[in-house]
Amino acid sequence: MRFEPLLDLPGVLEPDALVFAFASERLLLIGNDLPSLARLGPLDPLPLGRLDGRLCLAVALDPTHEPESGTSLDALRDAWGRLDEPLWTMAGRALQTLAWARDHAHCGRCGTPTAKLPGERALACTSCGVAAYPRLSPAIIVLVRRGDEVLLCHGTRFPSRMYSCLAGFVDPGESLEEAVHREIREEAGIEIDDVTYVSSQPWPFPNSLMVGFTARYAGGDLTLDPSEIVDGGWFSREALPELPPYPSIARHLIDGWIDGADAPAAQRTS
Ligand SMILES: [Zn+2]
Repeated sequence: MRFEPLLDLPGVLEPDALVFAFASERLLLIGNDLPSLARLGPLDPLPLGRLDGRLCLAVALDPTHEPESGTSLDALRDAWGRLDEPLWTMAGRALQTLAWARDHAHCGRCGTPTAKLPGERALACTSCGVAAYPRLSPAIIVLVRRGDEVLLCHGTRFPSRMYSCLAGFVDPGESLEEAVHREIREEAGIEIDDVTYVSSQPWPFPNSLMVGFTARYAGGDLTLDPSEIVDGGWFSREALPELPPYPSIARHLIDGWIDGADAPAAQRTS
């Protein structure tokens, strides 16, 4: 689907607009569909863009909004599979845009209320002029392989028993590659090489951009950081633990390795 960003609301809101309405962090759905503008009544939407020409709007509902019969409020993670992937990704864009508007209603420098700058996705202070753009926090995620095994760990903050790749936020002043080496050194005590970019994924929990890499073990004894990791180790394709759910980039990286060129022929055909 083709997406074009839209920085200002059109003069007339088309009735078939796709409305991503959130009460705090929870998305309003009617069954597996988005609500219509007419159903929501008067609102103060933020423009997101056009998806295949169709207007997409973000709406902040009252945080205490009670869903009517036939509607539900769901955490965005739980809405995966109920919305098509382009709509789920757009819902993440809406969630981040609403959080930005909420958190920058006042200037971070002098406290004066801000106002939207026409033609920009920016909220500017009406007194001192400081402008706030939506903030992204880049994070790296790395699947490290050693021979025909990969390093998977169960983190202290994981909600389930799953094991995943190591990940961490990029520090100020650091390149993505430096972050990859530092994170693996800090959390696993090992050195890596052959660091290769695979793909990236917006991760709106709350405003990350996950940048996915693979790397090769290059030396050192595996020493897992107990403040971050409960358990972990090297896993072969034949003995994998519970894996992260879709649509996480972690699962994408692991699936890519499972299906990869270094897989034994028997696994590649499955
Ligand atoms: Zn100010």
